[in-house]
Amino acid sequence: MGNPKHKVTKSKQSARRSHRTAKSLASGKCKNCGAVKQSHTVCPVCGYYDQKEYIKQSDL
Ligand SMILES: [Zn+2]
Repeated sequence: MGNPKHKVTKSKQSARRSHRTAKSLASGKCKNCGAVKQSHTVCPVCGYYDQKEYIKQSDL
């Protein structure tokens, strides 16, 4: 079995893991009400997506 030639230092290990962060969700603005919402989802405020009402106001 092959062995690692050199010890991975704490700084090398930390530098490699620096890219391993949680990404924030893609967000955009609702075209209907302007509220900040997650993109490609129905707006939780007004229930619209792509200028169409998917969730009626009475259901919210
Ligand atoms: Zn909206």
